[in-house]
Amino acid sequence: QEKLETGWNLDNSYARLPETFFSNVDPTPVSSPKLVIFNEELADSLGLDVYDLKSEGGEQVFGGNQIPVGSSPLAQAYAGHQFGHFTMLGDGRAILLGEQITPKNDRFDIQLKGSGRTPYSRGGDGRAGLGPMLREYIISEAMHALGIPTTRSLAVVTTGEDIIRETKLPGAILTRIAASHLRVGTFQYAARWGTLEDLRFLADYALNRHFPDVAEDKDRYLSLLRKVIKRQAALIAKWQLVGFIHGVMNTDNMTISGETIDYGPCAFMDTYDPETVFSSIDVQGRYAYKNQPPIGGWNLVRFAESLLPLLDEDQDQAVELAQNEISTYMDLYQSNWLAGMRAKLGLFNEEKEDESLIEELLRMMKKYRADYTNTFRALTFHAPEDFVLFGTPEFSKWKEKWQARIDRQQESDAASHELMRNSNPAVIPRNHRVEEALEAAVEEGDYRVMERLLDVLSNPYAHSPEQEDYCSPPPASARPYQTYCGT
Ligand code: AMP
Ligand code: MG
Ligand code: MG
Repeated sequence: QEKLETGWNLDNSYARLPETFFSNVDPTPVSSPKLVIFNEELADSLGLDVYDLKSEGGEQVFGGNQIPVGSSPLAQAYAGHQFGHFTMLGDGRAILLGEQITPKNDRFDIQLKGSGRTPYSRGGDGRAGLGPMLREYIISEAMHALGIPTTRSLAVVTTGEDIIRETKLPGAILTRIAASHLRVGTFQYAARWGTLEDLRFLADYALNRHFPDVAEDKDRYLSLLRKVIKRQAALIAKWQLVGFIHGVMNTDNMTISGETIDYGPCAFMDTYDPETVFSSIDVQGRYAYKNQPPIGGWNLVRFAESLLPLLDEDQDQAVELAQNEISTYMDLYQSNWLAGMRAKLGLFNEEKEDESLIEELLRMMKKYRADYTNTFRALTFHAPEDFVLFGTPEFSKWKEKWQARIDRQQESDAASHELMRNSNPAVIPRNHRVEEALEAAVEEGDYRVMERLLDVLSNPYAHSPEQEDYCSPPPASARPYQTYCGT
């Protein structure tokens, strides 16, 4: 493959792992790559030359036609439980170009998604559709702006080639940025098919990369488990607090870094209903909104199982150690969630009855089919709006209780309002808005709708008048919303 001098500051630490963890493979060139969306701010923070990438280098590199000097392209091996069933997977359509060392000395994976077949492609074509890649771009960037740890999107390139799904779709490649692409499934892969040394190598690698403060400790593998549990408990609480539904919480889609990864059939909930499922393939509702916290725990048990050989020579002892850590997860999740909910209601301190106050509100929201985001937004601005919920005597009673609760704390009403403003987003990527942006881009080649949406989503806590248009729930005709993956 042709090399391009990009001036990137690449390292390839993953390529120094034992061979079993990856396959060296170049992206497959495409006929006519075109850069359709490019995250200049992110490129700049990574220390990439924005001007060069915009003028022509970008489409060559992000299209996979030229490889940056210093890159050692590879596809990662991993396994995973998909809807509960254990399978060998791996990057079937993604290729890691390397790790960019940023001006601040941070390390980020630069990965192409949709860049051709790899040894892990199984039956797949290694390609991706434009709509789904733009969708990942929008939602991951929205998540980042909401303050939720996530992989990020640097660029989307159209390939000039169609891909065949149920219909023909324009092909595209997404450039994804991640703290790493280590997954629970990477450990499952090592535990199932690697040697004990492979597993140890991987665990040490993960520790050095994500938890350097404990990487030298004698009981570092237990610390690894504890730290991942902590990050995932915090992450999933954040999802719940903004009404994000991931849609495919398979163990290969759960990171060790604690970043949200793999934006397939994900979507944000409009009407509050804990049973909400958007994904067309999740017929059992395994990954419904209300199931996300326990599924996170289930996945972490799979992670703990993979680590058992490293925790203690005595496996009974290892199980006990692992169980002790796992048993903290639900409480950790709950305290993260509760802290977030208190902030959403403008509460600084803790009172015993807070949980029931919150639960009562959620119960009413469900009963009156209130919009999740807008209910909290309306509470923030004491704007009754025309919600059915706000007109009920139940709600009036609840509001009095809430107001009394606010009055009991030391902080001023102004401070409380400020806390709520910063905890309750005005805009989320509403499904009908995302669809509208994708339609203009994919059908008309018009990216202005998407750019405007990205702009609004980049400042979700601004509560500015220009955002007003983006706050409305979808029209009744747009429901129920369904998402599809595998494209
Ligand atoms: P996901 O459900 O997105 O987590 O993907 C599950 C697995 O399928 C991963 O190993 C992907 O790399 C692989 N995969 C998805 N789409 C394709 C494709 N078009 N070609 C090859 N592999 C794919
Ligand atoms: Mg995946
Ligand atoms: Mg996917």
